[in-house]
Amino acid sequence: MKRVDHAEASSTFIAASSHAAFHDRRLWDLRGKRDREAHGLPEWETLRELASAIKAHTLTHLADYLEQFERNAQANGIVVHWARDAAEHNEIVHRLLDERGVTLLVKSKSMLTDECEMRPYLEQRGITVMETDLGERIQQLDDEPPSHIVVPAVHKLRGDVAAVFGRTIGPALGTDPENDDVPYLAESQRRHTRPAYLAAGAGLTGANFAIAETGSFVVCTNEGNADLSANLPPLHIASIGIEKLIPTLEHLGVFVRMLSRSALGSPITQITSHFRAPRPGTELHVVLVDNGRSERLGMADFWYSLKCIRCGACMNTCPVYRRSGGLSYGATYSGPIGVIIDPTFDLRKYSALPFASTLNGSCTSVCPVKINIHEQIYKWRQVIAERRQLPLVKREAMRVAGKILARPRLYRAAVEAAAAGIDHLPRSLVYNPFNAWGRQREVPAAPPQTFRQWYLKARGGPT
Ligand code: SF4
Repeated sequence: MKRVDHAEASSTFIAASSHAAFHDRRLWDLRGKRDREAHGLPEWETLRELASAIKAHTLTHLADYLEQFERNAQANGIVVHWARDAAEHNEIVHRLLDERGVTLLVKSKSMLTDECEMRPYLEQRGITVMETDLGERIQQLDDEPPSHIVVPAVHKLRGDVAAVFGRTIGPALGTDPENDDVPYLAESQRRHTRPAYLAAGAGLTGANFAIAETGSFVVCTNEGNADLSANLPPLHIASIGIEKLIPTLEHLGVFVRMLSRSALGSPITQITSHFRAPRPGTELHVVLVDNGRSERLGMADFWYSLKCIRCGACMNTCPVYRRSGGLSYGATYSGPIGVIIDPTFDLRKYSALPFASTLNGSCTSVCPVKINIHEQIYKWRQVIAERRQLPLVKREAMRVAGKILARPRLYRAAVEAAAAGIDHLPRSLVYNPFNAWGRQREVPAAPPQTFRQWYLKARGGPT
């Protein structure tokens, strides 16, 4: 599998400077709103501690809670399926649709189904899949994956959306490609998707939380599209990653108070729907999906990533994500959470991603479930180096650097030589196709003295 070149992919995004600046501002604005909401709750840090502990407890007793969920869900009349991987998940969903002759599926946002590549799988088998979340639908119409786990089309300007609508749904709806008024665009989406809810034979949702005690699950949205997808067609399928379990309804309050505050800086999502049983005369199926999660649970350094509630706060605060855009990660999950999850799917393919970080720790400090994100990123770098997945040039550079850093005299001599020679370096040594560092940077001018020279002069001490 070809390696994702994050630096190369980012350069396309950065070249569109108005998009890059807007993206940075928009996400930083979300981070600011998140801070205001978090600071408005004196018990915020207690909630984080609680959320982290509840998740740690659930994950360390996951098999028990999954069985409890299954028992209670079945008692409520829900049909529960188990999917070992993406292929099994897709087969189950397809079989359910095929057996009932469903040719149109309306679905709300679900990163899990993106992870399983469900949409192309179903479409190749003659089933039309319509995304009903506005951002997801924009991305679907533009033939792009979501670039953010909460706001999938956040990298697009209003004019981009108007152009996408004009090109795709415009001819049928008469949408004006020049009109980038937000209510106009939202109304276009509404006119476009509403008839599909009534015509669809099935609706598919994800779930933010599945509650073992009640056998029910909870979907948090702001547009109401998940409720229409779940409640209008005669068949509702919910695809749920096994890490979404929490033990009791009482625990839910902790997460619901933090989810939207962390994600969008709003106190709560507009709609928090509980699904406990099928409506009379309809069917409700849940597919519990593993797809590598059990394996991740067994990774001593990386299992904490399973605590994630997909709020996106780590993405909104990350300076690399904000400036490079989500699509540059070449993966379903981008930003700091993607950087620590993606290598568990394919180490070689995503080996560049853990280096797309400044390790500033901002992601860790905003994470509502206290995942040690930046520490995991650092750990992934070690794993990638140990498994010889670094590009050859970087591997050799690190080997030489390691030798120099291990010998203080050699290190001092190298620093002094570099300080003396940096202004006279041939440009081709830094700016060449083999050196990714030089693609976006200029070598700074050498300071008049090294830190060590300054230190000895200012403070004295041994040489
Ligand atoms: S890692 Fe934490 S901050 Fe990032 S999406 Fe998951 S829960 Fe949110």
